[in-house]
Amino acid sequence: MSGKHIFQIPFLKDHHNHLSLYSLLFKCPSLQGVLQKTDALNMIRALDKDSLSVVLGWNSGHYDFTSIELEEFPPVIIVNLSLHGFIMSKKAEEIMKPSHPEIVKNYRNTEWYERHFPNMLIFLANCVPARDGLLTDFFQAMEQKGIYYIEDMLLPNEPILNAIQHSSYAQRTAIWADPGTFHSLNENSRTFIKGIKLFTDGALGARTAAIRKPFKDGSTGYLLHSDDVLYRAMAEATSLKKGVSVHAIGEDATAQVVRVTQQLKQDGIQFSLLRMEHCQFIMESVAREAKELGIVLSMQPNFSIDSIDYSDRMEQWYLENNNPFRMLIDNAGFVPGEDLIFGSDGMPHGADAALNAALFPPYPIQKLSIDEFVAGYCMPDQSTGVINVEIKDNKAFTDLK
Ligand SMILES: [Zn+2]
Repeated sequence: MSGKHIFQIPFLKDHHNHLSLYSLLFKCPSLQGVLQKTDALNMIRALDKDSLSVVLGWNSGHYDFTSIELEEFPPVIIVNLSLHGFIMSKKAEEIMKPSHPEIVKNYRNTEWYERHFPNMLIFLANCVPARDGLLTDFFQAMEQKGIYYIEDMLLPNEPILNAIQHSSYAQRTAIWADPGTFHSLNENSRTFIKGIKLFTDGALGARTAAIRKPFKDGSTGYLLHSDDVLYRAMAEATSLKKGVSVHAIGEDATAQVVRVTQQLKQDGIQFSLLRMEHCQFIMESVAREAKELGIVLSMQPNFSIDSIDYSDRMEQWYLENNNPFRMLIDNAGFVPGEDLIFGSDGMPHGADAALNAALFPPYPIQKLSIDEFVAGYCMPDQSTGVINVEIKDNKAFTDLK
């Protein structure tokens, strides 16, 4: 039977985003949607010749840049769509070399980049000077996309934290910091930090997520740390009386987090809040253990689309088992809004992509009901704004009010 249904749902509470990073990078030019290389070249060649520019949204699957092009470009850092990699023009390298010799020397090495991923994000954020009104600009743009609350999974520096703290948006975020940044903060700033962010593997786009089988090109993902090193990092983070959030994408990474958490609990270490970020691949037995340990899964319905976008690099099993929401909810017992929460990672921001991917995903295991979506991804009520979702002919359309 055909027909349309209209649902009115509250604005989004995006549990995994990068408020500081995206606010700082918000006015940067982007190659997202620039599909022809000639258009990309024109855009980059028109950038400022004297000061450093950061360009976002580059899909290296669409086009690459030659060393000759990089030599003649203005000073520019061109950042991969997933943020898991960038290239620098020769002039950008010359500018950054005195202050960041290690990064200029190593950023092209994928493994090095992944091992230093949090630092690379922080480096990019620090390449863009903060300016007045940046939080307002960003929050207003996000409201247009139906988002009210924007969690910050990786604080780059103390000044942006203080800007958030003293803005009218302080209640519309929660801020996480990696151990290095956390320790660099003064006592007062530390009180504003919700928790410590750790990483156990890379990303699918960069083929560095710790999935068990090789990617189609033969490259293999890997864990960033031994169990011992992760154990110590998680124990240290809890000793700060903060929440702990661990990035884990591949099934080896999610299994490691659960294994190490079991060990920590056996040793009497308690977590006030332990989150696993992304969790795109997790075996059912591991999911059941994670549930028992009280781990909160923080996942991105929009990443269900990786099953299409990354069909060039992942075997069929991975396409069919990415974001296994039905297994997690129906079999392992996770409850949206309680121990299963949703966010976007800003890829892309907004209700439209999230709803379409949640309600009409590539594979049945990825499907969420509208009620599950609301429970895991929306503000508790409609007072901050509402999104009208019209579902018609097997497709969702949103209309922000
Ligand atoms: Zn993230």
